[in-house]
Amino acid sequence: MIHALVAAAVLSQSYARSRANENDPASQCLWWKENTRIVYRVNQAGNTETPGDTEFDAIKRAFSTWQTELAACSSLSFVEGPRSPSREATYSPDDSPVNQNLVLFREKACKQQVAAGDACWSDGSCGNKYDCWQFSEGAIAITTTSFSPRNAEVFDSDIELNTPSYIFTTVDAPPCVRGAEAVTCVATDVQNTMTHEIGHLLGLAHINDAASTMNPRAVTGELTKRTLDPGSKKFVCDVYPKGQASKLCFIPSVSLEQGRAAKVGCEAASGLPLLALAALVLRRRR
Ligand SMILES: [Zn+2]
Repeated sequence: MIHALVAAAVLSQSYARSRANENDPASQCLWWKENTRIVYRVNQAGNTETPGDTEFDAIKRAFSTWQTELAACSSLSFVEGPRSPSREATYSPDDSPVNQNLVLFREKACKQQVAAGDACWSDGSCGNKYDCWQFSEGAIAITTTSFSPRNAEVFDSDIELNTPSYIFTTVDAPPCVRGAEAVTCVATDVQNTMTHEIGHLLGLAHINDAASTMNPRAVTGELTKRTLDPGSKKFVCDVYPKGQASKLCFIPSVSLEQGRAAKVGCEAASGLPLLALAALVLRRRR
């Protein structure tokens, strides 16, 4: 008797969109206006421990991966701007220098250098005030998105990477042994991490599908998220179709909601690194 094991190659076509209130599935989805040229800028310091300029190249490849999909079927596009001197992952509705889509490696942990009683802990401003990683130690990176409280249109999205906790690498092989991470093997791959975070920047939320770029977990040596899964590609075409308006989840009502500052996200689970929390910062448009 022969038992044939057939591995059914079922390609996932699913994705989930980020919401204005992550705890409210009925809240509006985040969206960029159609035809937006999203200019991203990488902080000029890069990451000290990554050899040469390889981290800049890895970040560029991650944006290029998405840009290929955007160009094929969507109205959005990514444009690389000049390297930025800014260390501020934030957004101001005024036309100020902090208003850039910034990619930034935080080299120090706020916990090590900011007093517990500092007021910055309560309003989440420690990171920018002291140039440090203010989020959970277990998170590899955080994408902070600023959007309109009225209709959830995104104005700005910044990506911070957690250098104090993770060795960011750019080589393709071999995978590092856990506990012996170094820049000469694949520990926490910059391109793998950035491809996932750019998904957040575009409005994708996590899904519990191991084959998805938007799976929230990454193990030492992982490279699989460098490649977009079919669901994440479909998101780009569905939500930002070429020649059409961007797709919201519902038509906003006329009454203006009060914009309350909200920082929401997901929890890191037992010991496993959480690849990222899309920390959504609600800002009022003046
Ligand atoms: Zn994430």
